Amino acid sequence: QEAHAAEMERTFIAIKPDGVQRGLISEILSRFERKGFKLVAIKIVVPSKDFAQKHYHDLKERPFFNGLCGFLSSGPVVAMVWEGEGVIKYGRKLIGATDPQKSEPGTIRGDLAVVVGRNIIHGSDGPETAKDEIKLWFKPEELVKYTSNAEKWIY
Ligand code: ADP
Ligand code: MG
Repeated sequence: QEAHAAEMERTFIAIKPDGVQRGLISEILSRFERKGFKLVAIKIVVPSKDFAQKHYHDLKERPFFNGLCGFLSSGPVVAMVWEGEGVIKYGRKLIGATDPQKSEPGTIRGDLAVVVGRNIIHGSDGPETAKDEIKLWFKPEELVKYTSNAEKWIY
């Protein structure tokens, strides 16, 4: 079981300033928690614009890049690392499509957001970005290794 725990997949999830301001922190946490994923890091921070540009560097050629980075750095963000089997891909499923007009009901964006520029949550889109984003937002010692009691019933 130790070997299993050591290999467990991790993803970076962030509640954007609109999600924080709208009081959706606990709603979002509970969806990941009830699914059976494990929270291994969490903090609330106001990222600088420079930091937001690093986070979204893949999108720097897009017309909305400046507005997006301005928005992400406009207020508190809840940054998290979640762990579990398939958490990168399934985390994206819980989040829903980028444009909330196209997100299915039952997803976080489908249930709680209306427009693409205010879609309340970020989730890593693959193993490489997950690794990079966790490294950008967290120091290694901020990730907590523990066995939750529920795990033996989830796996
Ligand atoms: P996702 O967050 O689903 O991974 P992307 O990585 O493509 O989506 O884009 C990052 C973020 O940029 C989106 O979550 C959204 O906030 C913003 N965004 C994407 N497309 C647009 C757009 N056409 N207009 C404004 N903002 C956008
Ligand atoms: Mg993305």
